[in-house]
Amino acid sequence: MHLLLATHNSHKTAEIRAMLGADWEVTDMNAHPAFPPTEETGTTFEANATLKAVAASREFGGLVLADDSGLEVDALGGAPGVRSARYAGEHATDAENRALLLENLSTAGARGKQRTARFRCVLAFARDGSVERTFEGAVEGTMINAERGEGGFGYDSLFVPEGHCETFAQLPAAAKNTLSHRARAMSAALAWL
Ligand code: IMP
Repeated sequence: MHLLLATHNSHKTAEIRAMLGADWEVTDMNAHPAFPPTEETGTTFEANATLKAVAASREFGGLVLADDSGLEVDALGGAPGVRSARYAGEHATDAENRALLLENLSTAGARGKQRTARFRCVLAFARDGSVERTFEGAVEGTMINAERGEGGFGYDSLFVPEGHCETFAQLPAAAKNTLSHRARAMSAALAWL
């Protein structure tokens, strides 16, 4: 079975490929460099996941999956939220986004229990220009004030999931892939698939 992911983010692709297992051949938009990234004009993860899945499914046959995800930090009023990938600017790197987040957390004076946050993920499946289903997942946790760990991507080195002492960047990939926002959304999706 084949699934095309409407993403250029190879970290998302690697995680989803691991969650789906050997029965699925998973490719992404890095195999289609001429296809332009979809503008994420929505104000919710669901809207943006839908925009990306529908746009790619108009161009490519078969089942298409889009992941829209991000981090909500309570002390920052839910930021960076849907702007997680673009927090420090339209073409910001993960490192620039993390640096700005640390700066804003420090400015907000958020300490200890005030550093609660969650990752959210919406997965949208589309075919021939229409959405078939969406699935959501979230994982609660805490932001720390200095990066820890080398694994993962995005804000992983700053986020400690509830019930653990290590950041997502310190936990083995297999552990992140069972308890993350993406894993939770995908576990509901797998039952449907
Ligand atoms: P999207 O491509 O618009 O969905 O933006 C996703 C952004 O949210 C990423 O670029 C990361 O900054 C952040 N993000 C989403 N999922 C994760 C994750 O599993 N770990 C760390 N950061 C994530």
